[in-house]
Amino acid sequence: MSTIFSQIRDRKIPATFVYEDDAIFAIKDIMPQAKEHILIIPKKEIATMNDITDDDTLLLGKMMIAASKIAGDIGIAESGYRLVMNCNENAGQTVFQIHMHLLGGEILQSGFGGKQ
Ligand code: 5GP
Repeated sequence: MSTIFSQIRDRKIPATFVYEDDAIFAIKDIMPQAKEHILIIPKKEIATMNDITDDDTLLLGKMMIAASKIAGDIGIAESGYRLVMNCNENAGQTVFQIHMHLLGGEILQSGFGGKQ
C-alpha cells in the first residue's frame, strides 16, 4: 500500500508541485503551518528517519540542497526559514514516508517544541 505522498508522486492525487527532479519532489502542504510551508519528499519510500541507511546519504543531501533552492525560488532565503523532519509518534509524524518541512515567509515561533 503506497503512502499518500507516493500517490501524489504518481499523480494519482493532486498537489501543487514546486520542485521535482529524478530523486525528489516538493509540494505545498495542504494544511500550512506558516505562510510558506513546503514538503520536500524523496521519491523512494522510506518510512521514518529510523529507516535511513548509508545508501541514502546522497538522497538526504539532495533534500537539503532542494530545500535551499526552493527557499531561494520562493523568495524566503534572506528573510529565513526552518527545516523540520518529524520521526514517529512523539514528534507527531503522520505520513510514513520521510519528508522535510520547509517553513517560512513570516516570523516563526522560537523554540523547537518541548512538552505540550
Ligand atoms: P508530518 O506530521 O508527518 O511530519 O507531516 C505530514 C504533512 O503532510 C502535514 O503537514 C500534512 O498537512 C501534510 N499532508 C498530509 N496529507 C497531504 C496531502 O494529501 N497533500 C498535501 N499537499 N499535504 C498533505
